[in-house]
Amino acid sequence: MRIRVFDTTLRDGEQTPGISLSPDQKLSIAKKLDELGVDAIEAGFPIISEGELKAVKMITSEGLSCEVCGLTRTHKKDIDAAVDGGLNYIHTFIATSDIHLEHKLKMTREQALAKAIEAVEYGKSRGLQVEFSAEDATRTDREFLKQVFREVANAGADRIDIPDTVGYATPEYISEITKDAIEATKLPVSLHCHNDFGLAVANALSGIRAGAQCAHVTINGIGERAGNASLEEFTMGLQCLQWDQKYETGIKPELIYETSRFVSKIVGIQVQPNKAIVGDNAFGHESGIHTHGVLNNPLTYEPISPELVGRKRWLQVGKHAGIHGMNAMLEEYGISPTEEQSKQILDKVKVLGDQGIQVTDVELLSIASEVLREAGIKRIVHLTGFSVSTGIGTMPYAFVKLNIDGEDFIGTDYGVGPVDAALNAIQKITGKISEIKIKDYGLASISGGSTALCEVTVRLEDADRNKVTSKSVGEDIVTTSVQAVIDGINRIMLKKTLREKLANN
Ligand code: MN
Repeated sequence: MRIRVFDTTLRDGEQTPGISLSPDQKLSIAKKLDELGVDAIEAGFPIISEGELKAVKMITSEGLSCEVCGLTRTHKKDIDAAVDGGLNYIHTFIATSDIHLEHKLKMTREQALAKAIEAVEYGKSRGLQVEFSAEDATRTDREFLKQVFREVANAGADRIDIPDTVGYATPEYISEITKDAIEATKLPVSLHCHNDFGLAVANALSGIRAGAQCAHVTINGIGERAGNASLEEFTMGLQCLQWDQKYETGIKPELIYETSRFVSKIVGIQVQPNKAIVGDNAFGHESGIHTHGVLNNPLTYEPISPELVGRKRWLQVGKHAGIHGMNAMLEEYGISPTEEQSKQILDKVKVLGDQGIQVTDVELLSIASEVLREAGIKRIVHLTGFSVSTGIGTMPYAFVKLNIDGEDFIGTDYGVGPVDAALNAIQKITGKISEIKIKDYGLASISGGSTALCEVTVRLEDADRNKVTSKSVGEDIVTTSVQAVIDGINRIMLKKTLREKLANN
């Protein structure tokens, strides 16, 4: 059965607290969603602002292959704004639950029903495709909900949507009212499910099982409060889970991850690492048992292949690691330790893991290079000159000279203090080479007194998202900070060198 995907990233998704998009940003997301293969996008709520209307106009004039819809209340001026935005498809809504009627709309059920009918009739008179939503449907009196759906269908609505506005429904109840809506209207029915209890996708799927043909979803599940049903979970659930019939959508799964990253970057909301399908950890393995299993056959611990959704599997070592997974990772870089060396490397990995340090592949390579001294893996970045000046009435200033693989580089910069100035100067040099950035800086004093030793911990990341944590202990805060950063840079560069060496062989 072909299921319709109605994406509301640009409307409900944009209503996520803290998100506000410019018309250009909205257009760029609309194009991306169209490429992904959604059937319809809700481009916005045209009446709310000039910018929103402009965005809707830009999207409707782009000639996308998907349908473009706009949200309206039941007011005529909202529907007129949608027409002004170039839309020929609206999603119009009015609340039908007693809670909303009494405390928000100050209307009786009859008044709300009359407004709903009026809006549908007006939308149809303006030549629009009309999808009607009974806001807060799942907390609406069930008989009244049926009546509303029946009467808006008689008034000419083209589609019915059931919004679980506050994510309050159970999959069982969604199934029941979906059947009610189909019976009362004989129209195509959609679900609009929120994730307040983590059930948005389960509820949307339950609606589909009960005969609905469409779900409203968002990329990464963004949306008001706990968000909406996520496109990636809903569509991959339909495609991959064990159902008694086949479900198809127009989504190109291999573009899912790329689209998720794109939206996350534009809206400025990071995807939680343990998010299904698109989270950083969705196809990552650390535990020895899992890594061993996946290396033998990925199906042991992966329900679907990461390539299916445009991703790659990754393995990480840590305190749960086993020798198989670790050796497989080292092999990728052309490093084959002996059994004894493997044990030594793994011991060091577990010590770091127990200290709570995330052992990235960069960390693993640098441990391996320490153990396998004879492999001739050398430090690439050397600090050959360094000075800072600071004081009162002067701006802290640093001069840094680095030798990187035989070539000299000089960087100078100011900062809020001498450490900041030194790190800025280093980043000026490394920024040119591999865009290494300092993501985190921590300072602790080890013993008391003015001669105390300090411990500096820095977290670095390069353009390919290679991460490394590096530590240095010393007497001088500034020098120790610089050493920690140089050490981290060396370890990130080590990975690059090994990759290049392997490519040249
Ligand atoms: Mn919503």
